[in-house]
Amino acid sequence: MTGYEFFPIRELSTYQTKWTIKGRVTSKAPLRTFKQRNGSGQGKVFHVELLDVEGGEIRASFFNDAAEKHFELMEVGKCFTLSKGQVKLANRQFNACKHRYELVFDKASQVDQVADDGKIDAVKFTVVELRSVQGKALPCSVDVCGIVTAFDKAFAFTSKDGKDLVKRTLTLADDSGISMQVTIWGDRAKKDDSEFQGHPVVVMKGVTVKEWQGGLSGSLMESGSLAFNPEMPEAQKVKAWWTQGGHAQNLTLISQTTGGAGARIAGKLMDVLEMKQKSEQLLNEQEMYSAYCRLASVQLRKRDDIQPLYYNACLEPKEGNGLPCNRRVDDSSFCAVCNKVVKAAPRLNLRCRFEDATGNFWVTTFHQAAEKVLGMTAQEVADIENNQGREAVEAKMKSCYYARIVQVQLRAKPDSYNGEQRTNVSCTSAQPINRREHGRFMLKEIEDMLAKAVC
Ligand SMILES: [Zn+2]
Repeated sequence: MTGYEFFPIRELSTYQTKWTIKGRVTSKAPLRTFKQRNGSGQGKVFHVELLDVEGGEIRASFFNDAAEKHFELMEVGKCFTLSKGQVKLANRQFNACKHRYELVFDKASQVDQVADDGKIDAVKFTVVELRSVQGKALPCSVDVCGIVTAFDKAFAFTSKDGKDLVKRTLTLADDSGISMQVTIWGDRAKKDDSEFQGHPVVVMKGVTVKEWQGGLSGSLMESGSLAFNPEMPEAQKVKAWWTQGGHAQNLTLISQTTGGAGARIAGKLMDVLEMKQKSEQLLNEQEMYSAYCRLASVQLRKRDDIQPLYYNACLEPKEGNGLPCNRRVDDSSFCAVCNKVVKAAPRLNLRCRFEDATGNFWVTTFHQAAEKVLGMTAQEVADIENNQGREAVEAKMKSCYYARIVQVQLRAKPDSYNGEQRTNVSCTSAQPINRREHGRFMLKEIEDMLAKAVC
């Protein structure tokens, strides 16, 4: 063990019992209370992430007495030596740190602040390309580095449990040609708009990526890190890409934007025939396509069974990202996930058949996309069914067939069914056509045909 004064964080495992580590606090979560599992009392806990001189990182949680004793002292940026903690397997659901293990400190722990060690970095980023996020099992936690291509205004709201929250959504893009929305919170969201203008490069540590409305969206946890225009090589690379043509590139947005006029359709535009061929040849990665087509039918019955057109979903905001829980509730509006009676709203979930001149296809169509395709809200569909009956709602659906041209966004994802490889395609967004864009698309088709034509 010559040369090492302290035990390397990277090598901590359940096989090691005696160790003293030295590390810098790179992030710190707020102190929170919880109900003790065995008794009636309240427990306290907070956690930090520690980084050592060799770049090893681990999460350390402090419980009860240790939480009270060390919470004030353990500030982000300070260095500590730590020993007499317990090593246990990391809980991947809550722990974004890459270490296989995590540390737990209680009463017996030994924690001492030491002089700043300049050899230990302030924070360590393990940046991944946005393109690679698509292939990960969700939810996942990643570090990303990208250009801020767009940002929303800061938005203040009160959560269902009475907390005042502020959030802001940024759109990040990197040189893999992908863009994704990431929500930031609290003081980070409250920063002046000017901080986000002029397409700065940002690097974020600890972005939780989840599937939402058929797209992917990120949320930077409070315990994560955010830096503007950092010096690191990844940032230089992204900046160079942006200035040397990236800003004019057609980026693929992998997030589902929330309704309204801001919703954009992502994915390469093609006709239905080409889309079907492409999705059948899909290998490992998810792809986005878009097509102009008409709604040809909605699956109203399967054999003789009536198919539900919507379900009632929980509106309770989730902790962390504030997005609605969205789980199906029972008839009494009880949500099994939130474990209480909640406010709920109908959400459409349709099997639609879309058609253009080259062919047609069946596809699961999610809530917002389905509302755009029908030109009605889920609430309107539910009201017709509840007040006028099933026949009336089926007649209403049929009145939407071939009614107008929509541009649909399709997500094709490799999937396996009974051990067989196949592609799962779903409709994640839709919009009535933009006649100007549609006109250009058709003109281009005519030009292509003319170019190929032999005189
Ligand atoms: Zn819920």
